[in-house]
Amino acid sequence: MDTKIARIIDTTEYGNTLDEAAKIILSGGLVVFPTETVYGLGGNGLLADAAKKIYSAKGRPSDNPLIIHIAEPKDAENYAFTGDIYYRLAESFMPGPLTVIMKKRDCIPHSVTGGLDTVAVRCPSHPVAHALIEKCGVPIAAPSANISGRPSPTSAEYVIEDMNGRVEMIIDGGECEIGLESTIVKIDGNSLTLLRPGAITYDALCCVCEDVKIAPAVLEKLAENEKPLSPGMKYRHYAPNADFVLLDGDDSDVLEFIKKEQVENNCAVLCYDEELSHLDASLSICIGAKEDLNTQAKKLFTALREADKLGANKIYAHLPTLDGLGLALYNRMIRAAAHTIKKV
Ligand code: AMP
Ligand code: MG
Repeated sequence: MDTKIARIIDTTEYGNTLDEAAKIILSGGLVVFPTETVYGLGGNGLLADAAKKIYSAKGRPSDNPLIIHIAEPKDAENYAFTGDIYYRLAESFMPGPLTVIMKKRDCIPHSVTGGLDTVAVRCPSHPVAHALIEKCGVPIAAPSANISGRPSPTSAEYVIEDMNGRVEMIIDGGECEIGLESTIVKIDGNSLTLLRPGAITYDALCCVCEDVKIAPAVLEKLAENEKPLSPGMKYRHYAPNADFVLLDGDDSDVLEFIKKEQVENNCAVLCYDEELSHLDASLSICIGAKEDLNTQAKKLFTALREADKLGANKIYAHLPTLDGLGLALYNRMIRAAAHTIKKV
């Protein structure tokens, strides 16, 4: 199919783009749109067939459920059984990069939820995403707009790489502000389980709810035959084509190791800005200053895609710490590395 690529530079002047995009979604087609986290591959969240098209465009297994995107936090009422904790989370973090899993209402097709009786709901803050959902008047089901298994796209260039010819329209809204997917929590009575860490950190969630558990699969590999709390946890994700290995050790030891590997084995590296002058620049991609986790989050997925283009068969990176946004970086990186961690 021909994919229309529409660029929105000034968010106050959408022209006809959003009318056209809403028309496509309401007639069952697919539109890629920018959000503050990563680009989303959107379809009508009330149409079973739209979900099937999304799975097929992504090459995603159909038991891996989609997140529905709403214009206002209170719209969740129409699609899920909310409650006190939902509204406390909404008050603190919505609109924004938080997805909440609750029991679903009948209007949400099982094809959207991968057969589950729960639904994941998010209210994005990006003005284009917000305006598009509002115009459609239906929830937009949208996973990240990458081919399944690849790093999530944080700019239209990478959306086009993966989705050109597979969707009716791509809205280019520039670079995504956050760069990692939303934090996902599941509400269980009065407690929360963190299923995917993101820009809303564990500490921030603890300010709203006294009992926040971290699902074991956030940090560790699932055991053989273990049933994950979130189906997406069992799939390989974010992976570059080259072998990706995380290095655990003092910064100076890690730097010595990667310097040697670049010289002897032509390996690529995702490095901190401070390290670049010590390394082979043609095999190094900076992801930000060591202490600047926001920039690292924003650059990680682009860096994984660009590292592949350097032609190395191995890519190294530092193992992140678990503090604050570090937990989200750690979670994405251990999965991209298929849990390969080397002590140096
Ligand atoms: P993506 O759409 O690519 O951002 O991925 C969405 C993630 O949300 C996947 O890992 C899903 O498994 C997870 N998810 C969506 N809906 C549910 C649900 N009802 N229960 C548990 N996890 C969910
Ligand atoms: Mg994804």
